[in-house]
Amino acid sequence: MAANLGQARERIQKACVAAGRGPDEVTLVAITKTFPVSDVRALAGLGVVDVGENREQELKVKAPECPELTWHFVGQLQSNKARSVVRHASVVHSVDRLSLVGALSKAAVAEQKTVRCLLQVSLAAYGAADAATGADRGGVGLSDVLELAGAVAAADGLELGGVMAVAPLGSEPDEAFAGLREVADRLRSEHPEAGWISAGMTGDLEAAIRHGATHVRLGRALLGTRTHLG
Ligand SMILES: *Cc1c(COP(=O)(O)O)cnc(C)c1O
Repeated sequence: MAANLGQARERIQKACVAAGRGPDEVTLVAITKTFPVSDVRALAGLGVVDVGENREQELKVKAPECPELTWHFVGQLQSNKARSVVRHASVVHSVDRLSLVGALSKAAVAEQKTVRCLLQVSLAAYGAADAATGADRGGVGLSDVLELAGAVAAADGLELGGVMAVAPLGSEPDEAFAGLREVADRLRSEHPEAGWISAGMTGDLEAAIRHGATHVRLGRALLGTRTHLG
């Protein structure tokens, strides 16, 4: 795991240099879904401070075991799980609809927390046409980003942090992430505080960093292949 982490950090660093960016402009978020909390602890022991989960059921079990870490929620979120996610995570990367904003806000107020919210943007327009069905990775449509941003910015207990996306199957990651960058720039012109771009996973972190990613979400690069779906 130490070797994997070292290699991942080196990939990030090289990508930053190649993009003319400073290495500390990019934060590594370790995605630990499907792996046991012992692996989370091992990563923490190696200096990882940001960890993410994509399911509420896993988050609520692991996060209390490692309360010193910053927990990110990166998965599809049902409104009825908002309270639990807010209790355990301080960043939610997957805000994708207006109805979720109300649920998150209510939960944050009840938990007396401020939750940093990233808008998950659909890059489906950049995916392969034949992947359009069944391959939707979710997210708000490009034309609805600013409306959703306004709702988050106005909501009690929430702060607007920026955008998140997953490059769709069959897409050219450079094209998809360039599109995300445009959305991020437009968002920032209205909400200067919303500077995070959460983009890039094990397979495409270099492309994401070329296009301004501030947070890369790495699972397999650190922990190897997942044996069940996550
Ligand atoms: C699983 C997951 C990741 C990590 O993907 P890897 O390919 O294992 O690096 C990143 N983001 C989200 C939203 C995920 O669900």
